[in-house]
Amino acid sequence: MNVRATVGSIPFIDLGAQRRRLGARMDEAMLRGVAHGVFIMGPEVGTVESKLAAFCGAAEVISCASGTDALALVLMAKGVRPGEAILCPSFTFAATAEAVAWLGATAVFVDVDADTFNMALDSLKAGLATARQAGLMPVRSIPVDLFGQPADYDAIIAFANENGLWVWADAAQSFGATYRDRSVGTMGLATATSFFPAKPLGCYGDGGAIFTSEAELAAVLRSLRVHGQGADRYDNVRIGMNGRLDTLQAAVLIEKLAIFPDEIAARNRIAARYATALGEVTIVPRVGDGSTSVWAQYTLRIPDGKRSAIAEVLNRRGIPTAIYYPKPLHQQTAYRHYPVAGNGLPVSDTLAGEVLSLAMHHYLEPDVQDLLVEAAHDALR
Ligand SMILES: *Cc1c(COP(=O)(O)O)cnc(C)c1O
Repeated sequence: MNVRATVGSIPFIDLGAQRRRLGARMDEAMLRGVAHGVFIMGPEVGTVESKLAAFCGAAEVISCASGTDALALVLMAKGVRPGEAILCPSFTFAATAEAVAWLGATAVFVDVDADTFNMALDSLKAGLATARQAGLMPVRSIPVDLFGQPADYDAIIAFANENGLWVWADAAQSFGATYRDRSVGTMGLATATSFFPAKPLGCYGDGGAIFTSEAELAAVLRSLRVHGQGADRYDNVRIGMNGRLDTLQAAVLIEKLAIFPDEIAARNRIAARYATALGEVTIVPRVGDGSTSVWAQYTLRIPDGKRSAIAEVLNRRGIPTAIYYPKPLHQQTAYRHYPVAGNGLPVSDTLAGEVLSLAMHHYLEPDVQDLLVEAAHDALR
């Protein structure tokens, strides 16, 4: 790649490079789907579900139309209703709490850990007390694996078991990661993920999946995703939704899943280079002990109010940056009426003012990354 030609036009995420690598194989996979014409629940849907199950070791995989639907379907399957509290982090994408709100339940926002950006156990404990004081019961919990690394599941699940909570995971950003030798998709009651194009494993549109080890839950989820169907299409045994994964998206995912392990390795190499080069000038992300990340984002922390100046310097040099997330959910217009754990969420508030994400995708070339690192190093020094 001609490095000079990329200056000023370095993409934050480069899906084109992957497209070129997949080439004719992807074209043929999609054309096969067009030719057989079973666009809804075609054979590729079952195939990708088995391949996803084999990939992460989950007993049951239910593909669906998006990560948001995956979250909502689990809540629907468990009969979540008004008066119930769902504890979830505030420092996340809105969909986590949105699905809770759809069901009329109450999101109770908890704080995150400053090192891992994931749900903090202390705040989860405080959030449970807050929920009980507010008269909300029973309570469940959704840890989010933010920026690609799993939450601290052993600690969260142990606490949940002691307190009668259910745990399911919003792993929209972390499919492909591991926690203490377990794959994302095998922890808690169920795991929801997203195949939005910019996620580590994305399709060519919207898509998602749910993973669980419980056959009964899986059967309910399969019914819910097709309008609550029973014995056949015109037998409706519960209120569901149209939440299916398109056949063509399944075809895309089959091809992408085949190269995903290789891409995860590439993302980790890129993250390691960032850490080595920038660790001395700013706060680089830390992956928890025993965890691996798929680096949905590579997110620095730039304290002391210097973030916007640094971002401006970088952007002037053609280095793309992004802020995930500038406003935690408990500060958002749509969500600020929900309770927060304890006396507020200081870490989420601080992170929102400090985080800055750098370009991260499987095909970030070493010479292009050198340019990024050099510019970031200069700006941060
Ligand atoms: C992307 C994302 C979602 C939603 O996924 P969609 O497929 O876009 O609906 C939910 N939660 C988190 C944390 C996400 O990053």
